[in-house]
Amino acid sequence: MELKDKVAVITGASAGIGAATARSLAQGGARLLLVARREDRLQSLAQEIGGDTRFLALDLADPSAPQAMLDHALGEFGAVDILVNNAGILRTSHYEEFDLAELDPMIAVNYSAVVRASVLFARHMKARGTGQIVNISSIGAGITAAGTGVYGGLKAALERFTDVLRIELAGSGVCVGLVAPGTTTTEIFEDMKAKGQPGWDEYIPPMQPEEIARAIRFMCEQTGNANAARMHIYATSESF
Ligand code: NDP
Repeated sequence: MELKDKVAVITGASAGIGAATARSLAQGGARLLLVARREDRLQSLAQEIGGDTRFLALDLADPSAPQAMLDHALGEFGAVDILVNNAGILRTSHYEEFDLAELDPMIAVNYSAVVRASVLFARHMKARGTGQIVNISSIGAGITAAGTGVYGGLKAALERFTDVLRIELAGSGVCVGLVAPGTTTTEIFEDMKAKGQPGWDEYIPPMQPEEIARAIRFMCEQTGNANAARMHIYATSESF
């Protein structure tokens, strides 16, 4: 897809990979709707990017948020070409310390909101005969390790959903893919660090958000009959 003047909705745009993706797609000429909870961050990023950049502050844990996001995008731009479902939270714990209060928010943000947004935006895009949905997974979806059962399990479920959505949209003009980052230094490890655990980005030289944004943009810029369905981006020191 040629990015110039295309409308892209990016969730989790107030930080990390989402903010880097916003900058990258805007450099390609896309018009943006930035979505997250922290309005001040979204406002300052929209000002920094300039051009035709709008923002919407909402909590994706609310089941009504994906519909509100679509309605807002249609109100602002009339149509949506690209959806990047990037917002996510990371909580890791051995079962003995797992805080069960963290379970529902993780399911709501990392899985349910992505499914709801994918379904709603897919219907809109299919009606137009064009579009691109990018869901952000994690290499954790394929790693079986203590402490990662909920996070990795939800990303694995998201990968299955995303692959099936691509199959269901085959021939419709709507492309669907997933980008699975490895360790990338962002605020996602702050909760771990606040709990006195070492952040994963302290074990190895991590990637930068811009490196994942490049992969997301590459997926969006496929042309002709190409649908980049899966991209796994490992840090060079990751050895699993
Ligand atoms: P950050 O913590 O830097 O950013 C997360 C973003 O998600 C923020 O913009 C945050 O905005 C938003 N968000 C979180 N909860 C909500 C909510 N309830 N409603 C709306 N927005 C929300 O993380 P990353 O950039 O690292 O993560 C982006 C994606 O990449 C996630 O899906 C993550 O699982 C995935 N990933 C990251 C890896 C890494 O090593 N960093 C590795 C593998 C995958 P706000 O707080 O303003 O709402």
